[in-house]
Amino acid sequence: MSASAPITQDVMTLPRKLPEGPINLVGLTRDAMRDVLIANGTPEKQAKMRVGQIWQWIYQWGVRDFDAMTNLAKGYRAQLAEKFVIEVPEVVTRKVSEDGTRKYLVRIAGGHEVEVVYIPEEGRGTLCVSSQVGCTLTCSFCHTGTQKLVRNLTAGEIIGQVMVARDDLDEWPEVGARKDETRLLSNIVLMGMGEPLYNFENVRDAMKIAMDPEGIQLSRRRITLSTSGVVPEIHRTAAEIGCQLAVSFHATTDEVRNKLVPINKRWNIEALLEALKAYPKVSNSERITFEYVMLKDVNDSDEDAHRLVELIKGIPAKINLIPFNEWPGSPYERSSNNRIRAFADIVYNAGYASPVRKPRGEDIMAACGQLKSATERARKSRKQIEADAGMGG
Ligand code: SAH
Ligand code: SF4
Repeated sequence: MSASAPITQDVMTLPRKLPEGPINLVGLTRDAMRDVLIANGTPEKQAKMRVGQIWQWIYQWGVRDFDAMTNLAKGYRAQLAEKFVIEVPEVVTRKVSEDGTRKYLVRIAGGHEVEVVYIPEEGRGTLCVSSQVGCTLTCSFCHTGTQKLVRNLTAGEIIGQVMVARDDLDEWPEVGARKDETRLLSNIVLMGMGEPLYNFENVRDAMKIAMDPEGIQLSRRRITLSTSGVVPEIHRTAAEIGCQLAVSFHATTDEVRNKLVPINKRWNIEALLEALKAYPKVSNSERITFEYVMLKDVNDSDEDAHRLVELIKGIPAKINLIPFNEWPGSPYERSSNNRIRAFADIVYNAGYASPVRKPRGEDIMAACGQLKSATERARKSRKQIEADAGMGG
């Protein structure tokens, strides 16, 4: 994108219902599921109850086979199996890092691929979910931003990432078990590939499913959406999702932020802060996370740290410092540990938590901003395998 080109979001999303073939129930809201059940022969009076039952099988117990839904009549199960499927993305590769981080490359409709990263922590675990294939934005330090956007993910493809991770972690509770206490996957961050607020409806519907008390049951406090600063959608995020918000802030002057996060030319620091000030009130969320990537000699000076705390005054916030993860050809370097420490101390002394994000899964290229290259490598190696095997194409 040239500097003057408008930042647009005219990307396509696959229709949820393909013109022919069975309908995937995964990703439908409760209302939408009710509608498709009725349209396919479920009596209207029963529809709400059926949604509740099917919903629990899919999202509470992780069941993918209608025939296992034993509280439904046999005939009705067969009828469902004819019209519907319960489908999640296909795991193409799975890599496990030395530090336990797991990275999945999953394939979605159309043969596209996105990456999902599971980060185990003491007593909890976070899943980093993608919302788009590539990204329309072009943040200069982000490898995903150099990949052209192919399309938005559907709600089913977004919640499907959570479901495949739970499959792999083997943490669906036993059918009939009282409450699900195992929480290897306790948190979701929308920090994978893509700008979630340029795919608002699908992200919202998927997160509603994640939060539904009769399913995956994650509290809204355990879901964090990261945005580069799509100002008009921030209010909607608070009102319609209510999750925690993280903002890719990364700079303390418009001049520098224009270069790092080009969406700043559309909505500058002032406009962004204005929207953020209203966020905690609307969503009841306690603090906004300001993500700040530490780039050597670009945004990491003491002056930057002081300006940062000045700018965010009045906003309940924590500052998450992210040591830059380099990628081949990246135009930046990571700030030194001493510089990061000094920056963190200034922020901390001004009264804000300033944790430094520990890069996880670097050995499998799963760290923040590294996701694109891994995909390309995987593609290349599969092509290579096919060529070696004389399969062509
Ligand atoms: N598009 C959204 C969410 C995905 S990026 C956003 O921009 O907020 C998740 C976080 O990783 C963002 O804060 C992003 O700025 C950061 N990031 C991107 N590339 C990085 C890199 N190479 N090193 C460290 N952090 C990076
Ligand atoms: Fe897109 Fe976020 Fe990367 Fe910017 S940092 S290019 S918004 S994924």
